[in-house]
Amino acid sequence: MLVVQKYGGTSVKDTERIRNVAQKVIEYKKRGDDLIVVVSAMAGETDRLLNLAGSVTPFPDEREVDVLISTGEQVTSALLAITLKSMGYDAISLLGSQVRIITDSSFGKARINEIERERILSELKKGKIVVVPGFQGVDEEGNITTLGRGGSDTTAVALAAGLKADLCEIYTDVDGVYTTDPNICEKARRLDRISYDEMLEMASLGAKVLQIRSVEFAKKYNVPIYVKSSLVEGKGTLVCKEEEIMSMEKVVISGVTYSKNEAKITVNNVPDRPGMAAKIFTALSDANIVVDIIVQNVSHANTTDITFTVAKADAKKAYKIMEDLAKEIGVKDVTMDDDIAKVSIVGLGMISHAGIASKMFSVLAEEGINIEAITTSEIKISCVIKRKYGELAVQALHKAFGLDQEDVKEET
Ligand code: ASP
Ligand code: MG
Repeated sequence: MLVVQKYGGTSVKDTERIRNVAQKVIEYKKRGDDLIVVVSAMAGETDRLLNLAGSVTPFPDEREVDVLISTGEQVTSALLAITLKSMGYDAISLLGSQVRIITDSSFGKARINEIERERILSELKKGKIVVVPGFQGVDEEGNITTLGRGGSDTTAVALAAGLKADLCEIYTDVDGVYTTDPNICEKARRLDRISYDEMLEMASLGAKVLQIRSVEFAKKYNVPIYVKSSLVEGKGTLVCKEEEIMSMEKVVISGVTYSKNEAKITVNNVPDRPGMAAKIFTALSDANIVVDIIVQNVSHANTTDITFTVAKADAKKAYKIMEDLAKEIGVKDVTMDDDIAKVSIVGLGMISHAGIASKMFSVLAEEGINIEAITTSEIKISCVIKRKYGELAVQALHKAFGLDQEDVKEET
């Protein structure tokens, strides 16, 4: 079997952990597998390097930043190869530019266009374990590029797709994907399986287990991903095609997510005439601000209120843009509220079950929680509520949709 394994930053945070990784790799090697091992930088290293550049100048040159931050993964890949060799197993590290993981030239967020197979295949043929630093690639001109934060996941999935691996495992510090954040709800349960689409929703709503782009990649090339812990044994979670989730396991809702990273802005008394929403949202997109939820009130007396949410990091900027625009179009007031939380339920079952939204709203109502804005997709419903009710809402929804872990844990 050809196996691609990826180990995250906490799994390689020091040489002791790297030794632990080497032992896991060797287990597979012993049973006869060919292995490509992708590693992240040691936990905290990428941040440290970014801070270094930031301490020189607020806007460091992007090409050079990629040269800098790609070194974190170069260190761990060499250390893992050294460790494997010292333990008697032949290994070789190959940088993105040596494999030739070819990307476009958008430094800091490059996309993989092609992976050359020859070098890796020839090293595997010689019986070597191939170690590849995650997160990095090379553009057509030979410049080093990086794939965006968390990009080692994408390196692993892309290698698995490009080399038609039989198995792709992502090892991290949690033992799988959970129905919700176990820190918020102690009844959170590990999911055996989750579909790509649900995982994408969960990831974009803040579940940090996998980089969003790696899931998009996995979906596009149909690479099943096993998410597992490098520290404890377990079955982990399989992220796969919807069809592979057996119907008996099908639950209506797979997870509840919670995010505190948004702010809500309301533009009051906007003249109710064509072009106003276009003006507001063009101004925001011109400033590169991504808007999430949008609500427009039924108009009274020829004016309407438009409310939207943005990432908290963009809130001040968005507010300022709205104030300027307000003057221009003669709007009276703009208000901002960042004391909010967004709770969402995610599940494929929503497509075929009626009454999911009403159930969610009733559960919140029973807890006395007011809903300030709502947004839905085919497989997700999100509600904006007061921040202080966030955790309560997660727990209540988790229970109401039957996600709570059984008190007596079944051994499987
Ligand atoms: N080291 C990079 C980061 O922290 C890539 C990764 O770990 O996946 O974002
Ligand atoms: Mg990661």
